[in-house]
Amino acid sequence: MTGLGVSPGLALGSAHVSDLAALSVPEYSIAPDETGAELDRFEEAVGLSRHQLLKLKEKSAALHGPAAEEVGYLLDAHLAMLTHSRLLRGVVTRIRGQAINAEAAVRIEIDEIAESFALMGDAYLAARIDDIRVVGSRLIRNLTKTPFTAIGKLPTGTVLLADELTPADTALLDPTRVAGFATALGGAEGHTAIMARSLGIPAVLGCVGLLQGVGPGDVVLINGSAGTVTINPSSATLAKYEAERIVALREKRQLDLLRQLPSITRDGVAIELQANLELPRELAQATEVDAAGIGLVRTEFLFMNRKDPPREDEQVEALLLLVRGMAGRPVTIRTLDIGGDKLAYSLRGITSDSPNPALGLRAIRLSLKYRPLLETQLAAILRVGVEGPVRILLPMISSLSEVRETRAVLVATAERLRAAGVRIADPLPPLGIMIEVPGAALAADAFAAECDFFALGTNDLTQYTLAIDRGDDQVAHLYNTLHPAVLRLIQFSAEAALRARIPISVCGEIAGDPRFTPLLLGLGIRTLSMAPASLPRVKQRLRTLSLAEAVRLAGQVMNQSDERRISALLDY
Ligand code: PEP
Ligand code: MG
Repeated sequence: MTGLGVSPGLALGSAHVSDLAALSVPEYSIAPDETGAELDRFEEAVGLSRHQLLKLKEKSAALHGPAAEEVGYLLDAHLAMLTHSRLLRGVVTRIRGQAINAEAAVRIEIDEIAESFALMGDAYLAARIDDIRVVGSRLIRNLTKTPFTAIGKLPTGTVLLADELTPADTALLDPTRVAGFATALGGAEGHTAIMARSLGIPAVLGCVGLLQGVGPGDVVLINGSAGTVTINPSSATLAKYEAERIVALREKRQLDLLRQLPSITRDGVAIELQANLELPRELAQATEVDAAGIGLVRTEFLFMNRKDPPREDEQVEALLLLVRGMAGRPVTIRTLDIGGDKLAYSLRGITSDSPNPALGLRAIRLSLKYRPLLETQLAAILRVGVEGPVRILLPMISSLSEVRETRAVLVATAERLRAAGVRIADPLPPLGIMIEVPGAALAADAFAAECDFFALGTNDLTQYTLAIDRGDDQVAHLYNTLHPAVLRLIQFSAEAALRARIPISVCGEIAGDPRFTPLLLGLGIRTLSMAPASLPRVKQRLRTLSLAEAVRLAGQVMNQSDERRISALLDY
């Protein structure tokens, strides 16, 4: 089977087919005046579950032969259970009659249906019990918005196969146990893919028909570079895998040798290679590859997989580890970038479903609306700034007023802390912005006059410029950062930063792709921030380049309007 290879490497292991039944289900009573809201919540979960099944069905249309028929039949049966079924009626009656929460009502109703089917002793009905459980688990998962708990405790050597994994689910995977994973849904540039890369777990997403014909314990081979998943591979395939594994090991040893060498071009221009941190565990990897700093700390990890948002002290503790770990090298901490495909259960009270999540109340918009959230984060950053150089980075900035408002909150927070006798960074840390919305790129000159630095978020910049959801496998083939429109915005922003003499870096995924290195250098970028695992390869590439060549290449690329030609120029 093929899908999108999103995290390179080979993995061979024993299949664990994601079992949604392992969910823990909270149980509590509902006050009489809350029944209506609880029924609405249930209805919403039913709608979302239907939407997910329809999406899976659409994908399964690409299958051929009997598999297509079987999958289609199964999904239709599941969809039917989400329309006027005994399960739905039973849950509604229980929420009303027993005054209990929706997820508990689902769990009880499923158990009851299963029991009554089992009593009838009919093989057909017995088989339907599993379907009802699967549908019920989907409902519970959508209601609780929590990842399934079993995921962090998978046995060593597991290959995880699932319909879909959220970024929060992925964060729970233990790379020492999970050899690789594959899912039926998900795009190459979404946060699940980024999380997989940062954990260094080989992964394939968007793999049509993945869960058909595979069972627990089957041997699975994942090739995260080629984007293939092989169930019970033949001995010839296994021999090929072993040969590739040896080549990869040899290559890694060669790259390790680069650690000692400076990060300079052939003609002696120093390029700063920094690390992106998705999870704190990557700190060790960042120092191992000798990163010049942390160019992007995605602080969302602090809010994921927990019930309540972290307090200031807890944030300080987590960030201090990073600042101390980098021992004097700068750490760029981005304020919360929740929303879109990144959701956190701990913020369920303030994030709400939006008809257009990528364009909704997310990132800096959310922080400015819920001031305590922003103040707490800024206070934590100011406090850890005493221990080493930190910079504050704001996500999804689209207008100058957002920068001004945040700066005012920063100054007020600093005054409050000083008045309380708390030690904070002095002077205040630089305040910079992500350039990841086309409007911000086009107004880069105005932003450069008020910001201390820019970080180019080419993942979102591509998504928003081309109107392509970066996490949707159905449009993944259209997602292309080499589109001339995106490249012009990168060039425009770089020139504005250079004119205003403020630092600019690239921290989107292209920063870690050696194919892009000459182009970015040629456009004037001197700082690249990437997943730590990508750093040695980028260093290897830039040490073979001369800046004059890079500038010439950038000139040729910027004169082209055809994406294929641009792509060919990069490969030349
Ligand atoms: C980006 O959008 O390029 C970026 C670096 O931020 P994130 O991937 O976290 O959205
Ligand atoms: Mg972004």
